[in-house]
Amino acid sequence: MPEETVDVVVLGAGIVGVATAYAARARGMSVVLVDRREPGSETSYGNAGIISSGSISPLNNPSLWKALPKYLTNRHAALRWNPVWAAQNAGWVARFLANSVGSRVRPRAAALHGLIGASLKLHREWIVQAKAGHRIRETGWLKAWRGDAVAAAKQEQALLAEYGIASELLDRQDISALEPDIVPVYKVGLLNSQTASVDSPGEVVKAYARMFTGAGGDLRQSDVKAIVPDGGRWRVVLADGEIIARHVVVALGPWSSDILRSLGYRVPMAFERGYHREFKPNPARSLRRPIHDADGSFLMTPMEQGVRVTSGVELTGRDAPSSFAQLDQVVPLARGVVEFGDAVGEIWRGSRPTLPDSLPMIGPAPRHAGLWLAFGNQHIGFTTGPATGAAIAAMIGGAPPPYDVAPFAPDRYLS
Ligand SMILES: Cc1cc2nc3c(=O)[nH]c(=O)nc-3n(C[C@H](O)[C@H](O)[C@H](O)COP(=O)(O)OP(=O)(O)OC[C@H]3O[C@@H](n4cnc5c(N)ncnc54)[C@H](O)[C@@H]3O)c2cc1C
Repeated sequence: MPEETVDVVVLGAGIVGVATAYAARARGMSVVLVDRREPGSETSYGNAGIISSGSISPLNNPSLWKALPKYLTNRHAALRWNPVWAAQNAGWVARFLANSVGSRVRPRAAALHGLIGASLKLHREWIVQAKAGHRIRETGWLKAWRGDAVAAAKQEQALLAEYGIASELLDRQDISALEPDIVPVYKVGLLNSQTASVDSPGEVVKAYARMFTGAGGDLRQSDVKAIVPDGGRWRVVLADGEIIARHVVVALGPWSSDILRSLGYRVPMAFERGYHREFKPNPARSLRRPIHDADGSFLMTPMEQGVRVTSGVELTGRDAPSSFAQLDQVVPLARGVVEFGDAVGEIWRGSRPTLPDSLPMIGPAPRHAGLWLAFGNQHIGFTTGPATGAAIAAMIGGAPPPYDVAPFAPDRYLS
């Protein structure tokens, strides 16, 4: 048995785990961060890199009901679903849909607004401290419609305005002025002007991890096999050894539910899988910011390697075989908006970890002192990682978290 007891072991070095580890270390705790891969190699690598001030409306909102008939055909680029998975996870599907009613929008929007606001502040500070300031763009994020969607855009704008989030309604000419190199296919746009984006989310997470080790944190590469309560402390069993800690933070993203099963927790997590493919940019035709094509159901982000096209949601088992149907649908549409060259590298697949209310779990595990849960950050985990970690570190240290964490309490689903 190792002699030393560390204050905190953080499991998982995605954006959430790295942020937690850094925030705990910044509070003077001794911290070990463990991942089987390099930091920022999984979901936190392959996302669209948007640090979004405006993503306060969860995906399960009343517009989902309207869209449901077209999604049921299982041909839409926004959502593909596996009927066998849906039957096996009917409870999750029912709870997810139950949260799509109008009365459930504002409480969750308010909760996410607090989390996102605190995160944006931290990202902007940390990215400079981590010497990765050149990776952030303060050019906003454009949601754009091909059809006549002024009413839909205005409705989104009104919700953002309720929370003091600035946005600009754009017509075709305004869009061309903002993005002069794209084909003018969009009639209506909503610019989330307070949103930032990065040119490599994986590299940003790696830079934050270097900031953690630079501050005296201990980063270890190993497979976490189990966590075992051990006389008021925790024994973290790794493939190549053990660590004894006062506190353990589970920040394993879509793998978080696996490790908690042996402690009797059944986490209602689904996996909103998504894909990306990158393409060589055409230097004469560049994107200035990420564009969300609302009718085409895809996103395009200018990245370090090229234009990254990300797909909609595929609801199925986390480890089920890949299907490229959604990407096949949207890549030709993206090519019709901006010229780009051949594909670079392989198609990437990741899983957005999602709980039925689309809010993450941030807080203590109900039945185990010293066990902390930090996962379920769904579509906006790259955005919300920093403040997820900062709140966990504050709570471990006995300090108030930087925003209201009550809506994220794990005991809303776990007992
Ligand atoms: C297509 C797509 C686009 C997205 N776009 C955006 C966006 O633009 N903006 C945004 O804010 N969010 C976006 N997201 C969501 C965001 O990427 C995720 O919510 C976020 O990355 C989750 O971070 P995480 O740290 O919880 O998980 P992860 O990044 O997956 O980290 C979990 C870590 O746990 C490690 N791990 C797992 N099991 C073990 C084990 N047994 N032992 C050791 N290590 C283990 C993994 O190696 C991994 O590094 C997108 C997601 C997808 C799929």
